[in-house]
Parts: sequence; C-alpha cells; structure tokens
Amino acid sequence: GTPTALMVGSGIGAEKGILIRNGEAIQTFKEVKAIAFDKTGTITKGKPEVTDIVVVEGIKEKDFLYYAGTIENGSEHPLAHAIVEKVKSEKIAFGKLTDFNVVVGMGVIGDVDGEKVLVGNRKLMQENQISYDAYENELIRLEEEAKTAMMIAKGNQLLGIIAVADPIKEESAAAIAELEKMGIKTAMITGDNKRTAAAIGKKVGISHVISEVLPDGKVEEVVRLQKQYGTVAMVGDGINDAPALKQSNVGIAIGTGTDIAIEAADVTLVRGELTGIVSAIKLSKAIFRKIR
Ligand code: ADP
Ligand code: MG
Repeated sequence: GTPTALMVGSGIGAEKGILIRNGEAIQTFKEVKAIAFDKTGTITKGKPEVTDIVVVEGIKEKDFLYYAGTIENGSEHPLAHAIVEKVKSEKIAFGKLTDFNVVVGMGVIGDVDGEKVLVGNRKLMQENQISYDAYENELIRLEEEAKTAMMIAKGNQLLGIIAVADPIKEESAAAIAELEKMGIKTAMITGDNKRTAAAIGKKVGISHVISEVLPDGKVEEVVRLQKQYGTVAMVGDGINDAPALKQSNVGIAIGTGTDIAIEAADVTLVRGELTGIVSAIKLSKAIFRKIR
C-alpha cells in the first residue's frame, strides 16, 4: 500500500542524498509541471569572487578597496563576503564603520571614518543622486559576462565599480536540461540585475528568467507560476527563499543552505546537487506506477 511505498521511497531518496521531511512530497513530485530556482547558492555555488575593479580617474585602487571593504564588513551578504575577502587579500586594513544600513535589494550605506559611503546597484545610486552615466557601458560589459557589478560612492562622488562572479555548480546545466526534457518548465528567480541573470540563465539553459525581484517578491512569482502551470516546486537556500518554499507545492532546500530554508522545505538536497530533483521525480513516478 501507499505508506509502505512512501517508506521505501524515503529510503531510496536518502541513499541519493534526498532527505524527505514531508512524506506527501513523494506523491507531489510526479505532478510537478514547473520548477522555480533561486540563483545564488542554488544554481550557482553562492561563493562569488571579485573579478574586476574599475576605478574612476584620480581614485587610487587601494582607497577604493578601503571604503568598499570597511562598509561590506558590516554585511552578511555573499557579495559582501567576496569584497571583504578581496580587501583582506590585499592586506588593506578596515576603517571605522558607523551608521551602517542595508537597503534591501539595492546594497549598503554607512559612514566610514565619518564620511557617507554607498555600495550597491544602479537603483541605490539613483536614489542617492549619484551619477554613473559615464560608466554605464562598463556595467553592461561586466553584466553580459554574467558578473554582478556594484558601484561604490563616497559622499556624492562615484569611486568606481567592483564586479564579482559566482561560479555555476557543475551539475546545474545537466539537471535543468533533464527536467526540460521531461517536459517540466524551469524558471530562475533572482534579485540580481536583468543582464547578469539572463547571462547565467543562458549558461544553464533555463527557460524563464525572472530578475530584479525584491526578497518579498519571490512568493508572488511562485503564485504566478502556479496559476500558469499548476503544481510548482521551488528550490532555494536563503532566508528570503523560505516564504516561497512554503508557498510552492514542493519546497526543496539546499542542504548547505540556511536552517530557515531547510525548515520551510519539504525536501532537502543534502549535497546541494540539483540532479537530486531529477532523481526525486523519477522515484515518485516509479513508486506510484507500482502502486496502481
Ligand atoms: P540575490 O540574493 O539574488 O543576490 P539580493 O536581493 O540579495 O538578491 O540583492 C540584489 C542586488 O542588490 C544585488 O545583485 C546587488 O546589486 C545589490 N546588493 C545586495 N546586497 C548588497 C551588498 N551587501 N553590497 C552591494 N550590493 C548589494
Ligand atoms: Mg540563494
């Protein structure tokens, strides 16, 4: 009967590194029509590294990194970690950070040695009346290389651009190709900008790219996919993925991600490999074929 099949399913799942917290998920997997993936830490490794630094004329790279590092030292974001690591590797000491604030989906603001410093995307610069027109082409170039480009400003002056790249997990493209072959639509939901998101989406062969989504907006995007396709799975690793994982019909957490995401999900991919989803769907179909 079904309970036995579910137990067998859990056992086989565990062997493949798929931890099932909610037994119903084994039944739901076979109905999944679309899967939404978070980008950072789900499709990519979530370990971005600094790749490019472009300083405005007259600005010393060392000063640029000093301001960038000092402010990002206050942030927990993976982008911040990448910048802090770069500054440490250059043996540049940090300054005094006060009045630090995160601007969700845009970046960070704070005072470094009493001067206002900002690090973030175009929206953050626009909101603070910092002009970057002369660097728009530079930003586009970096974004088309699948990099996330951030700007740094002190007072109302732009100091430069720092870009990071987050490597794509080895199995992401194979997993997505397999899902699409099974007739399942794939979508990527990210707070990152349109061009970077499109470049990464193209590399992994995802069919829908939904970018510049604020952390709260992920739930809405899952609802939209549910209206369009019916049964939708969501895969994510971050605190801000938790509500979307709950909203989806099967929430899938990355085992190397945050506890909050794992608790919100029905299933955990212990090693974080997206190919586990393909195995889970095949397992679900196989088990319920036997029962009927
Ligand atoms: P994601 O989780 O997909 O990276 P976020 O909403 O966290 O999405 O971030 C969206 C964008 O906001 C980033 O791509 C970046 O441009 C900017 N941003 C967020 N946090 C920071 C930070 N600590 N430093 C600089 N920029 C940031
Ligand atoms: Mg993430």
